[in-house]
Amino acid sequence: MAWIVTSVTTKRDISSSHNVAADAAADAKNLPVVSMDDREVAIGWEDSRTWSRYHHIWLRDHCRCPNCYHQITKQRLVNTFEIPIDIKPTKVQAVSEGLEVTWPSSPSHIVVYPWSWLKEHSYNPPVHKKPPTSEKVLWGSKIAQDPPSVTYEEVMAKDNEGLYKWLYKIDRFGFCFVTGVPTTAEATEELSTRIGFIRETQYGKFWDFTSDLAKGDTAYTTLALGAHTDNTYFTDPCGIQLFHLLSHTEGTGGATLLVDGFYVASILKELHPKIYSLLSRVPVPAHAAGEPSALYRPTPLLGYPVLGHERGSGELAQVRWNNDDRSVMTSYGGEDVEEWYHAIRTWNKLLTSPDSEYWVQLTPGTAVAVNNHRVLHGRSGFDGKRRMCGAYIGVDEFRSKLDTLAEKFTPDSVTQQTSSYATVNGRSIWSSAL
Ligand SMILES: [Zn+2]
Repeated sequence: MAWIVTSVTTKRDISSSHNVAADAAADAKNLPVVSMDDREVAIGWEDSRTWSRYHHIWLRDHCRCPNCYHQITKQRLVNTFEIPIDIKPTKVQAVSEGLEVTWPSSPSHIVVYPWSWLKEHSYNPPVHKKPPTSEKVLWGSKIAQDPPSVTYEEVMAKDNEGLYKWLYKIDRFGFCFVTGVPTTAEATEELSTRIGFIRETQYGKFWDFTSDLAKGDTAYTTLALGAHTDNTYFTDPCGIQLFHLLSHTEGTGGATLLVDGFYVASILKELHPKIYSLLSRVPVPAHAAGEPSALYRPTPLLGYPVLGHERGSGELAQVRWNNDDRSVMTSYGGEDVEEWYHAIRTWNKLLTSPDSEYWVQLTPGTAVAVNNHRVLHGRSGFDGKRRMCGAYIGVDEFRSKLDTLAEKFTPDSVTQQTSSYATVNGRSIWSSAL
């Protein structure tokens, strides 16, 4: 394969025609090395010995000039299907902002792909991407010594910095308290909507309830509830659950239980890899059927495994666990039945171990937001009159708010490097999220 090198600083044996003047220019600016053949552009990164390769058709499809990409709506305008499959730039060269590509036709134009954008989206080889926020902190019972917390005043401040702090902590720890919340349903609802739209379900929009079995669910009783996630019977269980104890009179009990499902899963994986794999594989059906007018079951009806993983990275992404809501299981595949019962026994033992359980007695004025895809919650039994309020917020609403605040308060390198010249309608056209 003949590589045409247009600007080169390397001694690697990839060139068939070598431009010495371009060498000197690239050296002076310390720019990446750029070359192309009939199908791909290759970029040799200046700070390492690695190369990334991008197909011409891929680059053409991702052109972000105003003709190919709507600068305000951030939507594609180019007709992908009219791009000749053998498209090839007439020229590529390294300039200080990025890879400058001249496209031959329809219409002929020049676009500069920022270096940081190219590096972020390298697919051959794939570059390890850092998540937009920092690593997750897994925790056990010792989190009680210093649980994540913010104040109501911070979260409600107009500059949104306190809100970012709150969402960042929820993302990092899977939950975060808010202290100093006025003990009214109205203030708690306002707090919930700081994250995003409240998700309306069969339990209503914003809930304000007592233990009167107003809805056919054990949440509306005084019974103890073991650690579980909510909505295992939904195709898309709620992302964030916020709750706030408004009052508890004429009785005691009702401590809140939180368990980091990711922490427990990490122990399970370490100690019992076969069980971990079984719980990652066997789908569990579930239902919500306590109201005659509603019958909720997930799509597909077979349900989802207890441990759900991201495609690609294989990272644990979601814990779904509510043994009370489980429906009849037939999906084991024969000999797995006893193995599965053994597996959930082991899982339950780790979940209920004193090392995993974080018990906290919430008092009026302290709300808690929990990532329902990761942290399980429960409570001890109680007596007396208890008034709780709270809401569900979809995982997409949570993520959208967190990411827009991260763009502002901790922009990634692509946004930092392109925002001064590529921001249209408040967002860089080269934002790495697009
Ligand atoms: Zn274009």
